[in-house]
Amino acid sequence: MNQTYPEQLNIIRRHQVAAPIQTVALADDLGLRVWHVPNWPDDLSGKIVKSAEQGGSSGYAIYVNKGHHVNRRRFTTAHEIAHYILHRQFIGDGIVDDGLYRSRLSNSMEVEANKMAADILMPRHLLNQHMSTGVNSVSELARIFQVSESAMSFRVGSPN
Ligand SMILES: [Zn+2]
Repeated sequence: MNQTYPEQLNIIRRHQVAAPIQTVALADDLGLRVWHVPNWPDDLSGKIVKSAEQGGSSGYAIYVNKGHHVNRRRFTTAHEIAHYILHRQFIGDGIVDDGLYRSRLSNSMEVEANKMAADILMPRHLLNQHMSTGVNSVSELARIFQVSESAMSFRVGSPN
């Protein structure tokens, strides 16, 4: 499967009809298979690896620390999806993200991946929809979108 960048953005949009965004189903539609791995150290968030055996139709697999909270796992999955979409030519033997989403990629690429992860999990149009019905507390929005309160707080506090 070889989707173009606009096709990938369309797939993301199709998954953004209601909160919370289903990250594993989204990954699947992008050709990425997601594995939750037990017994990883806490300071390892996730990785993306090219794997004929464990990858989806794109040939890539995402591995997520099963010991982390579901909100964190969802963010990690979205972050690795972003690496696949934005940085595929740099994946090589794999990209491993530590507890702070640092890897051998540059900081600016990690910032890009975090930004796209936030765009995936907390799309503006759905946020605005909920806020227009009077849901304005960060904790309530975080619960609805299944993200951490710090991620939601950052999102509602930033203009784009
Ligand atoms: Zn990363």
